[in-house]
Amino acid sequence: MHDTTILDYEFEAHPQPVTAGDRESLLANPGFGKIFTDHMVVIRYSADRGWHDARVQPRGPIQIDPACAVLHYAQEIFEGLKAYRLPDNGAALFRPAENARRFRESAERMAMAPLPETMFLSSIRELVRVDRDWIPEGEGASLYLRPFMFASETFLGVKPASEYLYMVIASPAGAYFKGGAPSVTLWTSEHYTRAARGGTGAAKCGGNYAASLVAQAEAIREGCDQVVFLDAVENRFVEELGGMNVFFVFEDGSIQTPPLGGTILPGITRDSLLTLARDAGIVVREAPYRMQDWQKDAESGRLREAFACGTAAVVTPIGRVRGRGFDFTIGNGGPGLLTEQLRSQLTAIQRGTAADPHGWVERL
Ligand code: PMP
Repeated sequence: MHDTTILDYEFEAHPQPVTAGDRESLLANPGFGKIFTDHMVVIRYSADRGWHDARVQPRGPIQIDPACAVLHYAQEIFEGLKAYRLPDNGAALFRPAENARRFRESAERMAMAPLPETMFLSSIRELVRVDRDWIPEGEGASLYLRPFMFASETFLGVKPASEYLYMVIASPAGAYFKGGAPSVTLWTSEHYTRAARGGTGAAKCGGNYAASLVAQAEAIREGCDQVVFLDAVENRFVEELGGMNVFFVFEDGSIQTPPLGGTILPGITRDSLLTLARDAGIVVREAPYRMQDWQKDAESGRLREAFACGTAAVVTPIGRVRGRGFDFTIGNGGPGLLTEQLRSQLTAIQRGTAADPHGWVERL
């Protein structure tokens, strides 16, 4: 059994490394995933000691043995969430407990030691406190947090490892799309599926993304922005994009999104948008939708808008969908009204400029 009894942990913080002078120029144009703050969290796990040695330390390379289990059998999971700068210059997290829960569920699916959710949360809070000057200012900017965990045992053998390393790094990020979200064109993957029933589709494990890259590369080759995956059984139902969930908006004002059946990632943005839509009295369906119907409904005008959503891309309008032998446009190909309304509502809550009726924002 894994030891999950350590609930409160003292983090040992190290002095600030001397990169502060360069920070302002780095933050002026951070891009996405390119620059990193100067601290990281490290917590170790071993079957005999449980979780131990929790630290916030200067960010830097780590040494692993060539027989490190993750390099061979890919026991690795991660999360993605953001810290935002509030109007009064405070810092806030958005629904971090949901990431903590999903991280634990991912660990369980990958037969890894689950990190207690309280430790996940305190590790995130500590890192943001220590590196809070790295939260960029400006519309759409945030500090992207990347908790991850991997099998660190030096051992070759197909079995769950008995040692893990949990870490958190942070990366200042500018607006994903400058000047508002343009609409994206999707490429429908015909040969590749993302996850089968009973597989790892609902877990946020690195292997899912490795398996999606060839399909994403095909999308780029076809001149599209993102790949859309269909179900692995009939190859007919829309599942999700490489790194985002998908929503459909109909002429009667209702919205629909594929159901969580274990093959798609239970997105926190997806859940938040479903809640905001229900709050607004919008009819919401979590139900399967055929690619064939997507095309038919887009052509008849029954479908008015479609958008993708996730932590990184927030809410991204889908303008056009292509695949082998088909090509259709949604609405006029530009961002739709409800898409824009949900996007601005969500971002206003995240940034502390609108009321937060569900208590989603945690001020640090
Ligand atoms: N699906 C996949 C495959 C993803 O990688 C992500 C990004 N984490 C999402 C959906 C959206 O999840 P969230 O809203 O929690 O970021």
